[in-house]
Amino acid sequence: MKQKYERPTIKKMNTGLMNKFGTRTDFDPVEVIDGVPVKSLVADYGSPVFVLSEKQIRRNYQAAVRSFKTRYPKVQFAWSYKTNYLNAVCKIFHQEGSWAEVVSGFEYHKALGNGVAGNQIIFNGPDKKEADLIFAIENHSLIHIDHYDELYLLIEICKRINKTAKVAIRVNFDTGVYPTWDRFGFNYENGQAWTAINKIVAADHLELIGLHCHIGTFMLSTAAYSVAATKLCDLAIRCKTELQNPVQYLDLGGGFPSTNTLKGAYLPGVDTVPSVEDFADAITNTILNFGFATDELPLLILESGRVLIDDAGYLIGSVLANKRLSDGRRATIVDFGINILFTSNWYDHKISVAKEAGQYTEETVLFGPLCMNIDVVRESITLPLLERGDQVVVHKVGAYNMTQWMQFINMRPAVVLIDMQGKSHLIRKPETLAYLEMMEEVPDYLSN
Ligand SMILES: *Cc1c(COP(=O)(O)O)cnc(C)c1O
Repeated sequence: MKQKYERPTIKKMNTGLMNKFGTRTDFDPVEVIDGVPVKSLVADYGSPVFVLSEKQIRRNYQAAVRSFKTRYPKVQFAWSYKTNYLNAVCKIFHQEGSWAEVVSGFEYHKALGNGVAGNQIIFNGPDKKEADLIFAIENHSLIHIDHYDELYLLIEICKRINKTAKVAIRVNFDTGVYPTWDRFGFNYENGQAWTAINKIVAADHLELIGLHCHIGTFMLSTAAYSVAATKLCDLAIRCKTELQNPVQYLDLGGGFPSTNTLKGAYLPGVDTVPSVEDFADAITNTILNFGFATDELPLLILESGRVLIDDAGYLIGSVLANKRLSDGRRATIVDFGINILFTSNWYDHKISVAKEAGQYTEETVLFGPLCMNIDVVRESITLPLLERGDQVVVHKVGAYNMTQWMQFINMRPAVVLIDMQGKSHLIRKPETLAYLEMMEEVPDYLSN
């Protein structure tokens, strides 16, 4: 058979170019995501559009589980709902074996709706309504008490409904990373945590089964987790020896960083943040060396959010216009604003062009489409020259953006999941005016 003629092409290689900070610039175009062309995603679902990779979510989850399970015998992950509670996303984590970690009544009900057994839901946070607590007690969920008022309320509820609650306390401590998150839970150093434990063990209808902490988010110090694990282990051993109430689990919370680059960081996140394995080493070595009998090692629970999904998320957007600012700087206006890219507050996201672009690049300010001065997606980024209608792909936006996003001036866009076979699925429709007005009421006297 005669071969089809292909026109020869010459491609200039960009690899290895240094920018003024001595780090490599990377203008490789992103034309496809998991095999699906960016162009067809925009044609099918509009622009802007969030895209999630099921492959990457599963890969992250399995790698994290492996990092811990190869180092410690009893490990359980619980998906942090607030990080991304789209049901399709949660179901992927639950299929992989993850429990649910929720911090509000509606998240609790979402987890139940996603088929999670009551005794595999961890109920955290300072705001648990009485009705939610009763529900959680009856469903045998793991209630992590945040403050004394909640403890007293639980004691009162359990007595009233004559049921026993399975509880843990959230503990905060000085881990050497400041400011400490001491507004959540009971403090270790000043004895509050130990007092709370004593009150729980002494109460009739409470069963103390675990100890919990969540020391921060995007934590860059593995040592902080060693300190946290040490202090939780100390409490656990005292629970057993002094109160004859051994705990079943230690929950080290979440907080591991994704490979995003923090604003103002000198080097890219991929090169600098510790890996999940580094954190697993710090935590499991501490627990294993602490002195538990081998058959009494507590279950280790992790509530990782960000690290498991950030790099599985993309935001595709389109260029609306270019202009020159009064000082001559190039400005490009894109069709997504900071209202749907909350994490642009902290990260210099990697932003790629969705096509092979020219060699010429220029420092550019990226503005969103909102009629507000603060809508700056990026103060300064070196980009090839883009034209109206060109697509850009913002990377590592899977965590928190799809829960903290705001409807403001523009509607929230569609969210698409690309499955293991490279097929795309709409998992959240783009919002419409009808959706927006569904919750509104106009008083009769203003109706006509
Ligand atoms: C938000 C949260 C998590 C997840 O935190 P990440 O930093 O995203 O890993 C885990 N546990 C609790 C209690 C949380 O509030």
